[in-house]
Amino acid sequence: MGNDNTSAELFQRASAVVPGGVNSPVRAFGAVGGTPPFMASGSGPYLTDVDGNTYVDLVCSWGPLILGHAHPAVVEALAEAAAKGTSFGAPTPGEVELAEEIIARTPVEQVRLVNSGTEATMSAIRLARGATGRGRIVKFAGNYHGHVDSLLAAAGSGMATFAVPDTPGVTRAGAADTIVLPYNDIDAVERVFAESGPDIACVIVEACPANMGVVPPRDGFNARLKELTAAHGALLVLDEVLTGFRVSRSGWYGLEGVAADLVTFGKVMGGGLPAAAFGGRADLMAHLTPGGQVYQAGTLSGNPLATAAGLATLRNATDDVYARIDAVSAQVADAVERELSAAGVPHRVQRGGNLFTVFFTDTEVTDFDGARAQNTDRFAAFFHAMLEQGVYLPPAAFEAWFFSAAHDDAAIDRVISALPRAARAAAEV
Ligand code: PMP
Repeated sequence: MGNDNTSAELFQRASAVVPGGVNSPVRAFGAVGGTPPFMASGSGPYLTDVDGNTYVDLVCSWGPLILGHAHPAVVEALAEAAAKGTSFGAPTPGEVELAEEIIARTPVEQVRLVNSGTEATMSAIRLARGATGRGRIVKFAGNYHGHVDSLLAAAGSGMATFAVPDTPGVTRAGAADTIVLPYNDIDAVERVFAESGPDIACVIVEACPANMGVVPPRDGFNARLKELTAAHGALLVLDEVLTGFRVSRSGWYGLEGVAADLVTFGKVMGGGLPAAAFGGRADLMAHLTPGGQVYQAGTLSGNPLATAAGLATLRNATDDVYARIDAVSAQVADAVERELSAAGVPHRVQRGGNLFTVFFTDTEVTDFDGARAQNTDRFAAFFHAMLEQGVYLPPAAFEAWFFSAAHDDAAIDRVISALPRAARAAAEV
Protein backbone atom coordinates (compact mmCIF):
# COMPACT_ATOMS: atom_id res chain seq x y z
CA MET A 1 0.00 0.00 0.00
CA GLY A 2 1.08 3.61 0.23
CA ASN A 3 0.21 4.88 -3.23
CA ASP A 4 -3.33 5.70 -4.22
CA ASN A 5 -3.63 2.93 -6.75
CA THR A 6 -3.83 -0.13 -4.56
CA SER A 7 -7.13 -1.93 -4.14
CA ALA A 8 -7.45 -0.85 -0.52
CA GLU A 9 -6.80 2.81 -1.36
CA LEU A 10 -9.10 2.71 -4.36
CA PHE A 11 -11.89 1.12 -2.34
CA GLN A 12 -11.57 3.90 0.21
CA ARG A 13 -11.72 6.57 -2.50
CA ALA A 14 -14.58 4.76 -4.24
CA SER A 15 -16.56 4.53 -1.02
CA ALA A 16 -16.45 8.32 -0.74
CA VAL A 17 -17.89 8.91 -4.19
CA VAL A 18 -19.91 5.78 -5.06
CA PRO A 19 -22.46 4.20 -2.69
CA GLY A 20 -20.76 1.22 -1.05
CA GLY A 21 -17.75 1.80 -3.29
CA VAL A 22 -19.19 -0.24 -6.17
CA ASN A 23 -21.51 0.09 -9.12
CA SER A 24 -23.21 -3.28 -8.60
CA PRO A 25 -23.68 -4.56 -5.05
CA VAL A 26 -22.20 -8.08 -5.09
CA ARG A 27 -18.83 -6.63 -6.17
CA ALA A 28 -18.35 -5.09 -2.71
CA PHE A 29 -17.52 -8.44 -1.04
CA GLY A 30 -20.21 -7.70 1.56
CA ALA A 31 -21.18 -11.35 1.67
CA VAL A 32 -17.66 -12.73 2.13
CA GLY A 33 -15.92 -9.88 3.96
CA GLY A 34 -12.69 -8.12 3.04
CA THR A 35 -11.80 -5.57 0.39
CA PRO A 36 -12.48 -6.34 -3.25
CA PRO A 37 -9.44 -6.34 -5.52
CA PHE A 38 -9.68 -3.63 -8.18
CA MET A 39 -8.90 -5.10 -11.57
CA ALA A 40 -6.36 -3.64 -13.93
CA SER A 41 -6.53 -6.08 -16.84
CA GLY A 42 -7.63 -9.46 -18.06
CA SER A 43 -6.05 -11.91 -20.46
CA GLY A 44 -7.50 -15.31 -21.41
CA PRO A 45 -8.48 -17.04 -18.14
CA TYR A 46 -6.60 -14.57 -15.92
CA LEU A 47 -7.35 -11.31 -14.17
CA THR A 48 -4.64 -9.02 -12.83
CA ASP A 49 -5.46 -6.58 -10.06
CA VAL A 50 -3.95 -3.15 -9.47
CA ASP A 51 -1.60 -4.63 -6.86
CA GLY A 52 -0.12 -7.01 -9.44
CA ASN A 53 -1.83 -10.21 -8.21
CA THR A 54 -3.13 -12.56 -10.87
CA TYR A 55 -6.16 -14.78 -10.49
CA VAL A 56 -7.77 -17.52 -12.50
CA ASP A 57 -11.10 -15.86 -13.20
CA LEU A 58 -14.17 -18.02 -12.54
CA VAL A 59 -16.56 -15.08 -12.79
CA CYS A 60 -15.92 -14.14 -16.42
CA SER A 61 -17.75 -10.84 -15.92
CA TRP A 62 -20.71 -12.84 -14.54
CA GLY A 63 -21.09 -14.79 -17.73
CA PRO A 64 -20.34 -12.86 -20.91
CA LEU A 65 -16.73 -13.90 -21.52
CA ILE A 66 -17.02 -17.40 -23.00
CA LEU A 67 -13.85 -16.76 -25.04
CA GLY A 68 -11.91 -15.39 -22.05
CA HIS A 69 -10.55 -11.88 -21.53
CA ALA A 70 -9.29 -9.77 -24.43
CA HIS A 71 -9.81 -12.45 -27.06
CA PRO A 72 -7.90 -11.22 -30.15
CA ALA A 73 -10.94 -11.46 -32.44
CA VAL A 74 -13.07 -9.40 -30.06
CA VAL A 75 -10.35 -6.80 -29.47
CA GLU A 76 -9.77 -6.46 -33.20
CA ALA A 77 -13.49 -6.14 -33.96
CA LEU A 78 -13.77 -3.44 -31.31
CA ALA A 79 -10.78 -1.49 -32.56
CA GLU A 80 -12.13 -1.59 -36.09
CA ALA A 81 -15.59 -0.48 -34.98
CA ALA A 82 -14.30 2.28 -32.70
CA ALA A 83 -12.25 3.76 -35.51
CA LYS A 84 -15.47 4.24 -37.48
CA GLY A 85 -17.29 6.06 -34.68
CA THR A 86 -18.85 4.98 -31.42
CA SER A 87 -22.55 5.67 -31.88
CA PHE A 88 -24.81 6.97 -34.60
CA GLY A 89 -28.38 6.85 -33.28
CA ALA A 90 -29.32 5.46 -36.67
CA PRO A 91 -29.54 1.92 -38.04
CA THR A 92 -26.25 0.07 -38.63
CA PRO A 93 -25.34 -3.21 -40.38
CA GLY A 94 -24.05 -4.76 -37.15
CA GLU A 95 -27.52 -4.70 -35.60
CA VAL A 96 -28.95 -6.69 -38.49
CA GLU A 97 -26.11 -9.19 -38.36
CA LEU A 98 -26.39 -9.66 -34.59
CA ALA A 99 -30.16 -10.11 -34.80
CA GLU A 100 -29.68 -12.67 -37.59
CA GLU A 101 -27.04 -14.51 -35.55
CA ILE A 102 -29.34 -14.70 -32.50
CA ILE A 103 -32.29 -15.87 -34.56
CA ALA A 104 -30.18 -18.54 -36.28
CA ARG A 105 -29.25 -20.00 -32.89
CA THR A 106 -32.53 -19.77 -30.99
CA PRO A 107 -36.31 -20.29 -31.45
CA VAL A 108 -37.08 -16.55 -31.65
CA GLU A 109 -38.29 -15.06 -34.94
CA GLN A 110 -37.45 -11.42 -34.21
CA VAL A 111 -35.37 -9.59 -31.63
CA ARG A 112 -35.03 -6.07 -30.39
CA LEU A 113 -31.63 -5.05 -29.04
CA VAL A 114 -31.33 -3.24 -25.71
CA ASN A 115 -28.45 -2.43 -23.36
CA SER A 116 -28.84 -4.70 -20.33
CA GLY A 117 -30.61 -7.80 -19.13
CA THR A 118 -32.75 -5.59 -16.93
CA GLU A 119 -33.99 -3.68 -19.93
CA ALA A 120 -34.65 -6.93 -21.78
CA THR A 121 -36.90 -8.39 -19.06
CA MET A 122 -38.57 -5.05 -18.37
CA SER A 123 -39.43 -4.70 -22.06
CA ALA A 124 -40.55 -8.32 -22.41
CA ILE A 125 -42.96 -7.89 -19.50
CA ARG A 126 -44.36 -4.69 -20.99
CA LEU A 127 -44.79 -6.42 -24.33
CA ALA A 128 -46.49 -9.42 -22.70
CA ARG A 129 -48.92 -7.11 -20.95
CA GLY A 130 -49.49 -5.02 -24.05
CA ALA A 131 -50.04 -8.01 -26.29
CA THR A 132 -52.42 -9.85 -23.95
CA GLY A 133 -54.18 -6.81 -22.50
CA ARG A 134 -53.70 -8.37 -19.04
CA GLY A 135 -51.91 -6.98 -15.99
CA ARG A 136 -50.68 -9.73 -13.69
CA ILE A 137 -47.38 -11.58 -14.00
CA VAL A 138 -46.05 -14.69 -12.30
CA LYS A 139 -42.43 -15.02 -11.17
CA PHE A 140 -40.60 -17.49 -8.94
CA ALA A 141 -38.84 -16.90 -5.64
CA GLY A 142 -35.06 -16.84 -6.04
CA ASN A 143 -35.23 -16.07 -9.75
CA TYR A 144 -33.48 -12.84 -10.70
CA HIS A 145 -34.45 -10.87 -13.78
CA GLY A 146 -32.55 -7.64 -13.18
CA HIS A 147 -33.65 -4.70 -11.07
CA VAL A 148 -37.05 -4.16 -12.67
CA ASP A 149 -39.54 -2.83 -10.09
CA SER A 150 -42.17 -5.49 -10.72
CA LEU A 151 -39.58 -8.31 -10.75
CA LEU A 152 -37.66 -7.57 -7.56
CA ALA A 153 -40.05 -9.40 -5.24
CA ALA A 154 -38.22 -12.40 -3.74
CA ALA A 155 -35.41 -11.99 -6.27
CA GLY A 156 -32.10 -13.88 -6.30
CA SER A 157 -28.54 -12.64 -6.97
CA GLY A 158 -27.60 -9.65 -4.79
CA MET A 159 -31.10 -9.59 -3.32
CA ALA A 160 -30.45 -13.07 -1.94
CA THR A 161 -26.89 -12.33 -0.93
CA PHE A 162 -27.83 -9.29 1.10
CA ALA A 163 -31.10 -10.75 2.37
CA VAL A 164 -33.05 -7.72 1.13
CA PRO A 165 -36.64 -8.97 1.38
CA ASP A 166 -38.18 -6.61 -1.12
CA THR A 167 -36.61 -3.31 -1.88
CA PRO A 168 -37.69 0.10 -0.60
CA GLY A 169 -38.43 2.34 -3.54
CA VAL A 170 -40.86 -0.05 -5.19
CA THR A 171 -44.39 1.07 -4.50
CA ARG A 172 -47.11 -1.32 -3.47
CA ALA A 173 -48.74 -0.63 -6.81
CA GLY A 174 -45.48 -1.43 -8.63
CA ALA A 175 -45.39 -4.91 -7.10
CA ALA A 176 -49.11 -5.58 -6.68
CA ASP A 177 -49.51 -7.32 -10.01
CA THR A 178 -46.60 -9.68 -9.40
CA ILE A 179 -47.49 -13.12 -8.10
CA VAL A 180 -44.46 -14.87 -6.56
CA LEU A 181 -44.50 -18.67 -6.42
CA PRO A 182 -42.04 -21.22 -5.05
CA TYR A 183 -39.68 -22.41 -7.78
CA ASN A 184 -40.15 -25.91 -9.22
CA ASP A 185 -43.65 -26.13 -7.70
CA ILE A 186 -45.90 -26.85 -10.67
CA ASP A 187 -48.93 -27.44 -8.42
CA ALA A 188 -48.67 -23.84 -7.21
CA VAL A 189 -48.65 -22.65 -10.83
CA GLU A 190 -51.68 -24.78 -11.66
CA ARG A 191 -53.55 -23.33 -8.67
CA VAL A 192 -52.76 -19.75 -9.64
CA PHE A 193 -53.95 -20.31 -13.18
CA ALA A 194 -57.12 -22.00 -11.91
CA GLU A 195 -57.83 -18.96 -9.73
CA SER A 196 -56.58 -16.05 -11.82
CA GLY A 197 -55.90 -17.40 -15.32
CA PRO A 198 -57.75 -14.67 -17.26
CA ASP A 199 -55.74 -11.92 -15.48
CA ILE A 200 -52.27 -13.35 -16.08
CA ALA A 201 -50.23 -11.82 -18.90
CA CYS A 202 -47.19 -14.04 -18.52
CA VAL A 203 -45.03 -16.33 -16.47
CA ILE A 204 -41.38 -15.24 -16.41
CA VAL A 205 -38.77 -17.77 -15.31
CA GLU A 206 -35.02 -18.24 -15.59
CA ALA A 207 -34.59 -21.01 -18.16
CA CYS A 208 -32.30 -22.68 -15.60
CA PRO A 209 -32.08 -20.58 -12.46
CA ALA A 210 -28.54 -19.61 -11.50
CA ASN A 211 -29.14 -16.54 -9.34
CA MET A 212 -30.01 -18.43 -6.15
CA GLY A 213 -27.14 -20.70 -7.09
CA VAL A 214 -27.78 -23.24 -9.82
CA VAL A 215 -31.18 -24.88 -9.23
CA PRO A 216 -32.16 -26.71 -12.39
CA PRO A 217 -35.81 -27.09 -13.38
CA ARG A 218 -37.34 -30.44 -12.50
CA ASP A 219 -37.94 -32.66 -15.54
CA GLY A 220 -40.86 -31.24 -17.46
CA PHE A 221 -41.23 -28.07 -15.38
CA ASN A 222 -40.55 -25.59 -18.20
CA ALA A 223 -42.59 -27.68 -20.67
CA ARG A 224 -45.55 -27.65 -18.30
CA LEU A 225 -45.23 -23.88 -17.88
CA LYS A 226 -45.48 -23.61 -21.65
CA GLU A 227 -48.63 -25.76 -21.70
CA LEU A 228 -50.29 -23.94 -18.85
CA THR A 229 -49.62 -20.47 -20.21
CA ALA A 230 -50.84 -21.50 -23.66
CA ALA A 231 -53.99 -23.10 -22.24
CA HIS A 232 -54.86 -19.87 -20.42
CA GLY A 233 -54.01 -17.38 -23.16
CA ALA A 234 -50.94 -16.17 -21.25
CA LEU A 235 -47.33 -16.04 -22.47
CA LEU A 236 -44.19 -17.82 -21.30
CA VAL A 237 -41.11 -15.61 -21.00
CA LEU A 238 -37.92 -17.63 -20.61
CA ASP A 239 -35.07 -15.55 -19.24
CA GLU A 240 -31.89 -16.72 -20.95
CA VAL A 241 -29.84 -13.62 -20.06
CA LEU A 242 -27.38 -15.80 -18.16
CA THR A 243 -27.76 -19.17 -19.91
CA GLY A 244 -28.18 -17.92 -23.50
CA PHE A 245 -25.22 -18.80 -25.77
CA ARG A 246 -23.37 -20.11 -22.69
CA VAL A 247 -24.75 -23.52 -21.77
CA SER A 248 -25.00 -24.42 -25.47
CA ARG A 249 -24.71 -22.53 -28.75
CA SER A 250 -28.31 -21.37 -28.24
CA GLY A 251 -28.61 -21.60 -24.48
CA TRP A 252 -30.85 -23.67 -22.21
CA TYR A 253 -33.13 -24.10 -25.23
CA GLY A 254 -30.39 -26.21 -26.81
CA LEU A 255 -30.46 -28.59 -23.83
CA GLU A 256 -34.19 -28.74 -23.19
CA GLY A 257 -35.96 -27.54 -26.31
CA VAL A 258 -38.86 -25.65 -24.75
CA ALA A 259 -39.65 -22.75 -27.09
CA ALA A 260 -41.06 -19.81 -25.14
CA ASP A 261 -43.27 -17.09 -26.56
CA LEU A 262 -40.70 -14.47 -25.55
CA VAL A 263 -37.04 -14.95 -24.62
CA THR A 264 -34.60 -12.53 -23.03
CA PHE A 265 -30.87 -12.54 -23.77
CA GLY A 266 -27.82 -10.62 -22.55
CA LYS A 267 -24.28 -11.25 -21.32
CA VAL A 268 -22.57 -13.49 -23.98
CA MET A 269 -24.32 -11.80 -26.93
CA GLY A 270 -22.59 -8.52 -25.98
CA GLY A 271 -19.12 -10.05 -25.72
CA GLY A 272 -18.42 -8.00 -22.58
CA LEU A 273 -20.03 -4.79 -23.81
CA PRO A 274 -23.51 -3.59 -22.82
CA ALA A 275 -25.87 -5.40 -25.15
CA ALA A 276 -28.95 -7.51 -24.51
CA ALA A 277 -32.09 -8.43 -26.38
CA PHE A 278 -35.60 -9.70 -26.11
CA GLY A 279 -37.28 -11.64 -28.85
CA GLY A 280 -40.00 -14.05 -29.74
CA ARG A 281 -42.76 -14.81 -32.17
CA ALA A 282 -43.06 -12.27 -34.94
CA ASP A 283 -46.78 -11.71 -34.25
CA LEU A 284 -45.95 -10.71 -30.69
CA MET A 285 -42.96 -8.56 -31.60
CA ALA A 286 -45.24 -6.72 -34.06
CA HIS A 287 -46.89 -5.03 -31.06
CA LEU A 288 -43.73 -2.94 -30.52
CA THR A 289 -43.35 0.61 -31.75
CA PRO A 290 -42.95 1.84 -34.44
CA GLY A 291 -45.26 -0.75 -36.06
CA GLY A 292 -47.34 -1.38 -32.96
CA GLN A 293 -48.42 0.43 -29.83
CA VAL A 294 -46.12 -0.94 -27.09
CA TYR A 295 -43.44 1.70 -26.62
CA GLN A 296 -39.82 0.70 -26.26
CA ALA A 297 -36.66 2.62 -27.24
CA GLY A 298 -32.99 3.35 -26.47
CA THR A 299 -30.40 6.01 -27.40
CA LEU A 300 -27.57 3.47 -27.40
CA SER A 301 -29.55 0.34 -28.33
CA GLY A 302 -27.71 -1.65 -30.99
CA ASN A 303 -24.57 0.34 -30.30
CA PRO A 304 -21.92 -0.42 -32.96
CA LEU A 305 -19.17 -1.32 -30.46
CA ALA A 306 -21.51 -3.65 -28.59
CA THR A 307 -22.74 -5.36 -31.72
CA ALA A 308 -19.14 -5.76 -32.97
CA ALA A 309 -18.05 -7.39 -29.70
CA GLY A 310 -21.17 -9.57 -29.60
CA LEU A 311 -20.81 -10.72 -33.19
CA ALA A 312 -17.09 -11.48 -32.80
CA THR A 313 -17.90 -13.50 -29.68
CA LEU A 314 -20.79 -15.48 -31.17
CA ARG A 315 -18.95 -16.12 -34.44
CA ASN A 316 -16.00 -17.55 -32.53
CA ALA A 317 -18.24 -19.56 -30.19
CA THR A 318 -17.85 -22.79 -32.12
CA ASP A 319 -18.78 -26.31 -31.03
CA ASP A 320 -15.18 -26.67 -29.80
CA VAL A 321 -15.65 -23.69 -27.49
CA TYR A 322 -18.72 -25.25 -25.87
CA ALA A 323 -17.02 -28.66 -25.66
CA ARG A 324 -14.08 -27.09 -23.82
CA ILE A 325 -16.27 -25.14 -21.40
CA ASP A 326 -18.37 -28.25 -20.69
CA ALA A 327 -15.22 -30.33 -20.08
CA VAL A 328 -13.41 -27.93 -17.74
CA SER A 329 -16.56 -27.14 -15.81
CA ALA A 330 -17.24 -30.86 -15.22
CA GLN A 331 -13.59 -31.45 -14.31
CA VAL A 332 -13.62 -28.71 -11.66
CA ALA A 333 -17.08 -29.66 -10.35
CA ASP A 334 -15.89 -33.25 -9.87
CA ALA A 335 -12.75 -32.04 -8.10
CA VAL A 336 -14.76 -29.78 -5.78
CA GLU A 337 -16.97 -32.73 -4.82
CA ARG A 338 -13.93 -34.93 -4.21
CA GLU A 339 -12.07 -32.42 -2.01
CA LEU A 340 -15.08 -31.34 0.04
CA SER A 341 -15.93 -34.99 0.67
CA ALA A 342 -12.33 -35.69 1.69
CA ALA A 343 -12.48 -32.78 4.15
CA GLY A 344 -15.82 -33.97 5.52
CA VAL A 345 -17.70 -30.80 4.49
CA PRO A 346 -21.45 -31.22 3.80
CA HIS A 347 -22.09 -30.00 0.27
CA ARG A 348 -24.10 -30.34 -2.92
CA VAL A 349 -22.56 -29.43 -6.23
CA GLN A 350 -25.54 -28.61 -8.44
CA ARG A 351 -25.05 -28.48 -12.19
CA GLY A 352 -27.09 -26.88 -14.94
CA GLY A 353 -25.31 -27.54 -18.23
CA ASN A 354 -21.80 -26.11 -17.83
CA LEU A 355 -22.83 -23.93 -14.89
CA PHE A 356 -22.58 -25.16 -11.34
CA THR A 357 -22.81 -23.94 -7.76
CA VAL A 358 -21.34 -25.42 -4.61
CA PHE A 359 -24.03 -25.33 -1.92
CA PHE A 360 -22.73 -25.85 1.59
CA THR A 361 -25.65 -28.04 2.63
CA ASP A 362 -26.31 -31.76 2.53
CA THR A 363 -29.76 -31.67 0.97
CA GLU A 364 -30.62 -31.21 -2.68
CA VAL A 365 -31.64 -27.61 -3.40
CA THR A 366 -34.82 -27.35 -5.45
CA ASP A 367 -36.03 -23.88 -4.48
CA PHE A 368 -35.10 -20.59 -2.80
CA ASP A 369 -35.78 -21.80 0.75
CA GLY A 370 -33.40 -24.70 0.18
CA ALA A 371 -30.75 -22.36 -1.25
CA ARG A 372 -31.03 -20.04 1.75
CA ALA A 373 -30.61 -22.95 4.15
CA GLN A 374 -26.94 -23.37 3.12
CA ASN A 375 -24.06 -22.39 5.39
CA THR A 376 -22.78 -19.14 3.89
CA ASP A 377 -20.01 -18.83 6.50
CA ARG A 378 -18.43 -21.96 5.10
CA PHE A 379 -18.65 -20.43 1.65
CA ALA A 380 -16.87 -17.27 2.85
CA ALA A 381 -13.98 -19.31 4.30
CA PHE A 382 -13.77 -21.39 1.13
CA PHE A 383 -13.88 -18.28 -1.05
CA HIS A 384 -11.04 -16.50 0.77
CA ALA A 385 -8.82 -19.58 0.76
CA MET A 386 -9.29 -19.81 -3.02
CA LEU A 387 -8.64 -16.08 -3.46
CA GLU A 388 -5.40 -16.28 -1.47
CA GLN A 389 -4.28 -19.03 -3.82
CA GLY A 390 -5.05 -16.95 -6.90
CA VAL A 391 -8.55 -18.15 -7.83
CA TYR A 392 -11.29 -15.55 -8.20
CA LEU A 393 -14.68 -17.12 -7.47
CA PRO A 394 -18.00 -15.27 -7.48
CA PRO A 395 -17.92 -13.44 -4.13
CA ALA A 396 -21.30 -14.77 -2.96
CA ALA A 397 -22.78 -18.17 -2.21
CA PHE A 398 -25.83 -17.70 -4.43
CA GLU A 399 -24.00 -17.59 -7.75
CA ALA A 400 -22.75 -19.92 -10.46
CA TRP A 401 -19.09 -20.45 -11.38
CA PHE A 402 -18.29 -19.39 -14.93
CA PHE A 403 -15.67 -20.85 -17.27
CA SER A 404 -14.39 -19.88 -20.69
CA ALA A 405 -12.74 -21.71 -23.57
CA ALA A 406 -9.55 -19.84 -22.64
CA HIS A 407 -9.34 -21.80 -19.37
CA ASP A 408 -6.40 -23.97 -20.40
CA ASP A 409 -4.89 -26.85 -18.46
CA ALA A 410 -2.52 -24.57 -16.52
CA ALA A 411 -5.41 -22.43 -15.29
CA ILE A 412 -7.54 -25.44 -14.39
CA ASP A 413 -4.58 -27.05 -12.57
CA ARG A 414 -4.26 -23.91 -10.46
CA VAL A 415 -7.95 -24.11 -9.52
CA ILE A 416 -7.83 -27.81 -8.71
CA SER A 417 -4.65 -27.62 -6.65
CA ALA A 418 -6.16 -24.77 -4.57
CA LEU A 419 -9.18 -26.88 -3.60
CA PRO A 420 -7.78 -29.05 -0.76
CA ARG A 421 -6.76 -26.01 1.33
CA ALA A 422 -10.07 -24.26 0.65
CA ALA A 423 -11.99 -27.41 1.61
CA ARG A 424 -10.06 -27.58 4.89
CA ALA A 425 -10.83 -23.89 5.53
CA ALA A 426 -14.54 -24.61 5.00
CA ALA A 427 -14.32 -27.60 7.34
CA GLU A 428 -12.92 -25.41 10.12
CA VAL A 429 -15.95 -23.08 10.19
N1 PMP B 1 -31.78 -12.05 -15.94
C1 PMP B 1 -30.88 -12.95 -15.49
C2 PMP B 1 -31.23 -14.41 -15.53
C3 PMP B 1 -29.65 -12.52 -15.00
O1 PMP B 1 -28.76 -13.42 -14.56
C4 PMP B 1 -29.37 -11.13 -14.97
C5 PMP B 1 -28.05 -10.59 -14.44
N2 PMP B 1 -27.29 -11.39 -13.70
C6 PMP B 1 -30.33 -10.24 -15.45
C7 PMP B 1 -31.52 -10.73 -15.93
C8 PMP B 1 -30.10 -8.76 -15.45
O2 PMP B 1 -29.12 -8.43 -16.37
P1 PMP B 1 -28.30 -7.05 -16.22
O3 PMP B 1 -27.46 -7.20 -15.01
O4 PMP B 1 -27.52 -6.98 -17.50
O5 PMP B 1 -29.30 -5.97 -16.10
